[in-house]
Amino acid sequence: MGRFCAKCGCEADEYIHSLCSRCYWKEIEIKLPQDLTVTMCPECRSYLQGKMWVRQHDAGDEDWKAIVATESELERQTRLPEQVIIDRISGEVIDRNDRGHPKTVLLQVNLKEKEKSSRYKTSLLAFVEYTNCSVCMKYERGEHEAVVQVRASDRAFDHRDQQSLKEAVSSFSRRVSNQQRDVIVEIKEKEGGYDIKFSSLTSARIFAKKLHEDFGASIQESPKLVGVDRRTGGRLYKNTISVKIPKYRTGELVTLRGNIYRIIGFDRGRTVVEDFVGRHKTIGPSDSDELMVLGEEQIRMVRLDGRAGSHADLFDLKEMRFIEVPSELVPSEMKLGEEGILVKVYGKEKLIRLRPDELPKYSSLKQQ
Ligand SMILES: [Zn+2]
Ligand SMILES: [Zn+2]
Repeated sequence: MGRFCAKCGCEADEYIHSLCSRCYWKEIEIKLPQDLTVTMCPECRSYLQGKMWVRQHDAGDEDWKAIVATESELERQTRLPEQVIIDRISGEVIDRNDRGHPKTVLLQVNLKEKEKSSRYKTSLLAFVEYTNCSVCMKYERGEHEAVVQVRASDRAFDHRDQQSLKEAVSSFSRRVSNQQRDVIVEIKEKEGGYDIKFSSLTSARIFAKKLHEDFGASIQESPKLVGVDRRTGGRLYKNTISVKIPKYRTGELVTLRGNIYRIIGFDRGRTVVEDFVGRHKTIGPSDSDELMVLGEEQIRMVRLDGRAGSHADLFDLKEMRFIEVPSELVPSEMKLGEEGILVKVYGKEKLIRLRPDELPKYSSLKQQ
């Protein structure tokens, strides 16, 4: 006596969980979502999964992104028995809305029953609806979570600072553009500096940290009460991150406790300087306050032209004139014809011989 299907009573070659394969797959098929709709952001193509917006890779065209979104929504909504898996899905956009965005996607679904290795092909329609995601919505409304206020400390925010800030903004934007569309909502000139609004506090913090690392800027974060949330009744804060660019910059000559250095960069908020025999030194934040930038009037580029008894003749390469100095000012290793810089600090003069490889760094101090 043969077996028969528990549902339709037919005799089959093979049974899957007591059913003929036709009845079995019919039961499985009705477990697939009948009305599959996915919500996508028309600006950045993020799609909604439950309550969360999922960002998509930059690679792939618009159709591909819509297909990926419907496929993952199908997988999220489908509740199949443990032994059945979705083996393969492929999709095709078959209808568009009046803005040309994909509206209907035909999904081809290949199912597989693992125990019997039975396969079944079916297809279903998925619909795409469009609404702006939370980030794009904030962007549209100009909403922001945090402001980074960039100012220079104890001096004006000048053209060179502007240039550095511009570079920092563009390298930051390049870095984040893969995951998020415009996290910078607005850049505005303000009070001799710039106010940069960010859609999220996290990205504002990352940007401020970059200015700290690259330019030795100091950072201070403070929440500001801006009102009350009408829905929750809780207080609403916006965070302000104050970023102060130090008054000194790479390439500038500075003095610290009577010694003269050239700033060669910043490293995690510390100032890296070099002395005139090529030794590097890192100056921490507490000592940074004691650094003094040498102004143009304190530095002269000179050439040693003569040495006679108690005095030496220097030729000022900017003003093109001779200066007479006491000969003990000239370092003993400095030869006639060699160039150096004459620095005046606290009323005292100091002559520093420059190594040949250092000369190009100071060419701006010469008459062009
Ligand atoms: Zn049957
Ligand atoms: Zn979006």
